[in-house]
Amino acid sequence: MSLFKNLGRKVEEFKKTSEAVAAEEANYECENCEKRFYVTKSECPECGGTVVSLEDKAESTGSEE
Ligand SMILES: [Zn+2]
Repeated sequence: MSLFKNLGRKVEEFKKTSEAVAAEEANYECENCEKRFYVTKSECPECGGTVVSLEDKAESTGSEE
């Protein structure tokens, strides 16, 4: 039976997918050191800089044009 082989491939696909999703969901960035975050923060824990939402940035620049 190829059931286990199949399952292994599914897990592999899932890993890849979740990695891709995780990268896409890192929508917050420190303006100062450009470190990416998955959740919004009031300030960057690395340097204390302002953390901005990349989604908001894309929206504000995209809708104007
Ligand atoms: Zn920073």
